[in-house]
Amino acid sequence: MSAPVVIIGASHGGVQVAASLRQLGFEEEIILFSAENVLPYHRPPLSKAYLAGEKDLDQILLKGPAFYEDHRVDLRLADPVEAIDLAAGRVRARSGEQAFSKLVIATGSRPRLLKAPGHDLRGIFTLRTLSDVHALKEAMAEAQDIVIVGGGFIGLEFASTAAKLGKTVTVIEAREKLLMRSLPATVGDFIRAYHAAHNVRFHFNAHFAEFEGESGRLRAIRLADGTRIPADMALVGIGGEAELTLAAPLGLKLAAGGIEVDEFGRTSIGNVYALGDVAAAPNLLASEPMRLESVQNAVDQAKAIAAHILGQPAPAPVTPWFWTDQYDLKVQMAGLSRPDAVQTLRGDPDANAFSVIETIDGKLVAVFSVNRAADHMAARRLIAEGAFLDLSLAADAGVPLMKAVKSS
Ligand code: NAP
Repeated sequence: MSAPVVIIGASHGGVQVAASLRQLGFEEEIILFSAENVLPYHRPPLSKAYLAGEKDLDQILLKGPAFYEDHRVDLRLADPVEAIDLAAGRVRARSGEQAFSKLVIATGSRPRLLKAPGHDLRGIFTLRTLSDVHALKEAMAEAQDIVIVGGGFIGLEFASTAAKLGKTVTVIEAREKLLMRSLPATVGDFIRAYHAAHNVRFHFNAHFAEFEGESGRLRAIRLADGTRIPADMALVGIGGEAELTLAAPLGLKLAAGGIEVDEFGRTSIGNVYALGDVAAAPNLLASEPMRLESVQNAVDQAKAIAAHILGQPAPAPVTPWFWTDQYDLKVQMAGLSRPDAVQTLRGDPDANAFSVIETIDGKLVAVFSVNRAADHMAARRLIAEGAFLDLSLAADAGVPLMKAVKSS
């Protein structure tokens, strides 16, 4: 019997490695370390249904409590790993030392902090974990004026929940538009208008200057141009960075701000794998390894790692996809937006149902859909197949996207 497979981090990717290993017939011991003291849970609802009180913890668990026992996954809650000794093949956790045969680093990412004057006042939050959301919910119940720094996914999902509760919500964004790194301008502008119709206010091209306080509590936000925005609380959502604290001393090869891995999730050191937010991996649609902070990415990389540990072929590469829910909008993204792509509009933004199709020389590279789930599902398949589209057919929302494929 060899030493266990040790997985550090029990979120989407870490749990999926354990589940896939068992599904593929792995018989040896699996130890899953979690720093949190709660069963692993889905993160996407944290900034949406869980925050809004529409779902409770039982409804967002990744697996029911019986899963871990039934599948012989030794889940160690509230047991953070504090150090990794590669030469000895051991990790040191709070509970003690543990040897491993294979190590999977699934430590995720952490919110970027805004180290501006006043950042340590009470009333300033980030959102990543369940306990972050509990603190936010408590503060939100008392707050009226809410400022969100960063018009990204976290900020906008939180804005839609807060606006629905009747709060005064102001979003401060450093760029001139929303979600510029992930979405084409048509979709970003549409989302902005939708928020504005729900009374959310925006400051674009904003240079944050300071958090202003009184008796240790946040009272306002000040921008570099002197604008002062009253704030009972603030959420900072200015992006994430790979959680490399444990991995940094190991000498693993890094790329794009994360641990470089291959298509099997292997790092530059033999029996060490990494996945999800902390890993920079090759991608069907990119020439360089990239870090993708999405559930799909973590789950698919986990499946590849489990297959590799068992000596089985890696699953076929998949199209990156993700989604965001804001108000009654379901915004779904398949592929990766490219500044050099040709954009084709399909459907009607005024009817709150449309897609923006991105092609390069006719080849489909990305589809961004608002309330058009069928387009999204078709796009995931077509992008993976490397399909070419007839753009006049693709622009006709009455024609299923699958029927817009050009026969070669
Ligand atoms: P994000 O989506 O990367 O958005 C952060 C936004 O804040 C960007 O537009 C960023 O501009 C801007 N920004 C950066 N510094 C700023 C500053 N000092 N003042 C004002 N604006 C600033 O990051 P996030 O919303 O914090 O989310 C964290 C991670 O979780 C992301 O990877 C996100 O994709 C993921 N997430 C995904 C979902 C989803 O898929 N539905 C939901 C929640 C979270 P720059 O682009 O110039 O940096």
